[in-house]
Amino acid sequence: MSETLRTETIIAGAGVAEDPAFNAVSPPLHLSANYGWNDPLDKPQYDYARSGNPTRTQLETALAKLEGGARGIVVSSGMAALDLVFNLVDPGELVIAPHDCYGGTHRLLTARAKRGHFELAFVNQTDPVALAKAFSRNPKLVLIETPSNPLLRITDIRAVVAFARECGAITVADNTFLSPALQRPLSLGCDVVVHSTTKFINGHSDVVGGAVIAKDAALGEELAWWANCTGVTGAPFDSFLTLRGLRTLFPRIERQQKTTSDVVAALAADERVARVFYPGLEDHPGHEIAKTQQDGFGAMFSVEFAEGVDVIELLRNLRIFTIAESLGGFESLVCTPATMTHAAMTPEARETAGISDRLVRFSVGLEHTDDLLRDISHGLEHAAQSAANVAYLSKGAASQCA
Ligand SMILES: *Cc1c(COP(=O)(O)O)cnc(C)c1O
Repeated sequence: MSETLRTETIIAGAGVAEDPAFNAVSPPLHLSANYGWNDPLDKPQYDYARSGNPTRTQLETALAKLEGGARGIVVSSGMAALDLVFNLVDPGELVIAPHDCYGGTHRLLTARAKRGHFELAFVNQTDPVALAKAFSRNPKLVLIETPSNPLLRITDIRAVVAFARECGAITVADNTFLSPALQRPLSLGCDVVVHSTTKFINGHSDVVGGAVIAKDAALGEELAWWANCTGVTGAPFDSFLTLRGLRTLFPRIERQQKTTSDVVAALAADERVARVFYPGLEDHPGHEIAKTQQDGFGAMFSVEFAEGVDVIELLRNLRIFTIAESLGGFESLVCTPATMTHAAMTPEARETAGISDRLVRFSVGLEHTDDLLRDISHGLEHAAQSAANVAYLSKGAASQCA
C-alpha cells in the first residue's frame, strides 16, 4: 500500500500516531542523549543520540520517502551534508563540481582539495564539450547543483548521469533550490541527494540543518557510518522543528511559486529591467530542460536592472523584502550578490560568471503578490544612481562569504 501513497500524503502522515508510550498523535520530541539497555548483551535500537534517536529517524524516514531513496541521514547543516558525501572519495580520486556552485560548497571543495583529500575540477555543466572533457579524467564523484545560484542556470541531470554511468562515478545532486516537491534527482538516475534543509524543507528560517539521501541501502549505510563516526548528525530539537516545517512544504512552495511567476511577469515587462533570470520564462536557456526534470520552476529568481537603476538604493527602499542571505523561507528576502552572497569573488571573476553589479536575487515568501509588487515599485522610484555606491562596487566589496 505504501508504494501507492502520494508525496503529500507521506508528509502529512510522517510520525503521526506512532508513539508507543502514549499514542501521541503529533510526534513527541526525544531530547535524551542516551538510552538504557535492558541487558548488557542486548543492544537496544537506540543507545546514544549521536548514532540515532527517534526524532531524527522520523525526519530521515520522511525525507527518504519524499526523495525516493533507501536511506536518509539528517546532519547539522547543508555544508555538513556535502562534506559527508566527500568522505566517499579517496586521495588522488577526482571530484567534478559546477563552476557556479554555492559559495560555501566552492570554499569547502577548494579547502579539501588543497589538503590533498581529492583532486578537483570545476566545470560548466551546461556545456556538453566541457563536460565530456572533464569526464575523460574518470571522476569518482560528480556534484550537480540545479538550478544554480544566483543565475538559475539549469543542468541536464540525465545528461550528467549518462556520462557518470560510463565511468562508474557517483552522482550527487544538491536539491536545495527546488526541494523534493519540485525535483527528485534520484528518479533521474542520481545516486545521492543532498539538502540544506535550512531553506525550503524547514521553510521557517529557524533551523540550520542538512540531509543526505542515498538511493541504495548499502551506500546509505556507508554514509550513516561516516555521519556517526565524524559526529555531524543533526540534533533532536532541530529534527523536530524541521519535520514540523516539512509538513507544509507542498502548499508553501506551490503558493510561493505562483507568486513568483506573477512577480516575474510584471518585472519582465518593466522598462527599468534589463533581464529576468527565471527558468519559467520561455527565453530562459534552461527552460526546456527544466520542463523535463522539474515539477515547477520554483520560488527563486534574479533580475539584472537596467543601467541607471542603483540597486543598492533599491534595496534600501524596500519595506517588505528583508535584505538577507539565505532563501526558501516563508518571508521574502532580497540580496545583491555582488556585495553579499558573492562578495568574496573579485569584480572580474563576477563578470566572467555573469554576475553584474546590477543583479538582484529575490526569494519569494508567502506575502501577497500585490504587496510585493508595490514594494518593488516603491523601491525603484527611489533607486536613482548614487556615486558613492558605484565607487564601493568598483573597489570590490570585501565582505565575508557566509
Ligand atoms: C544554503 C546552501 C547550502 C549550505 O547549507 P547550510 O545549511 O547553510 O550549511 C548548500 N547548497 C545550497 C544550494 C544552498 O543554498
